[in-house]
Amino acid sequence: MHWHQRRVTRLAAVAVWLDGVLQRPTTVRLLGAGRDFWSLVLPTECAACTSPAVTLCPECLARVRAATVRPFRADGGADALPAAEGYEGGPGDPTDIDVLPVTAAGHYRGTVSRLLLSYKNRRRTDVGRPLQAALAGALQTAVHGIRKRGEQGMILLVPVPSRGASMRRRGYDPLGLLLAGLDRRGELPAGCHVAALVVYRGALTGGPSVLASRARPVSQKGLGGSQRRTNVHATMALRPGRCLPPGAVCLVIDDVLTTGATIAEVTRVLRHAGAIVAGAAVVAATPAPSRSR
Ligand SMILES: [Zn+2]
Repeated sequence: MHWHQRRVTRLAAVAVWLDGVLQRPTTVRLLGAGRDFWSLVLPTECAACTSPAVTLCPECLARVRAATVRPFRADGGADALPAAEGYEGGPGDPTDIDVLPVTAAGHYRGTVSRLLLSYKNRRRTDVGRPLQAALAGALQTAVHGIRKRGEQGMILLVPVPSRGASMRRRGYDPLGLLLAGLDRRGELPAGCHVAALVVYRGALTGGPSVLASRARPVSQKGLGGSQRRTNVHATMALRPGRCLPPGAVCLVIDDVLTTGATIAEVTRVLRHAGAIVAGAAVVAATPAPSRSR
């Protein structure tokens, strides 16, 4: 056999061997795991649609920006929201209730809702930036409103605490991450400070005795305004050892506004501790008709 014929035979043998190796179940599993590993480190699809992209595809990014560029008052129709600060009720009219002003960056629908869900439930923390930009806009508008009403001092930004079970499942606090990112880059409105971990959910540790009767609220999904209010009432408390400066002005922060029951519960705790709750800001608000469902 000629030398180059021998080489061709050897190469063919190597190719056959390699093919065999590649088709072994162990190899298939290893290569699959490798692919899964890289898709964890570097996402391979847009967090809002399924087109190939590392974070958000340009179309979805443009949609999210357009949908959150004009923050608006979203408290109309959120029937579980608390009364505005200092409001004692209208003259004999139970429906005349001046509610806590809530500013939303956008509506909870389409690309914005898909992005929020990916960020919260699919570990897509890589798309925090556009959500931070949206929240920053809502914060600016909300703080501007508070300043216009005459409040010139420090404003504490109090995030709604995560559920203990959600935190354990996700391994991160989505809202806390958004605020921490804005704080780190100096993108919070002037005179604002993040007061994380001031309010906590009783379910986290069992909580103090006042919370014992309602230590484990069920999920809010599918509940109407009054049901939600009852469901979350007295489930939160001021974290033991924490106190607020007397008369501290607070802005409650959440990701999504539905009926306002969660914001109402945080407001109750803060007001009970002597703070002034001047409003709330959220990334997105569910469209008003679905809130009263
Ligand atoms: Zn997309």
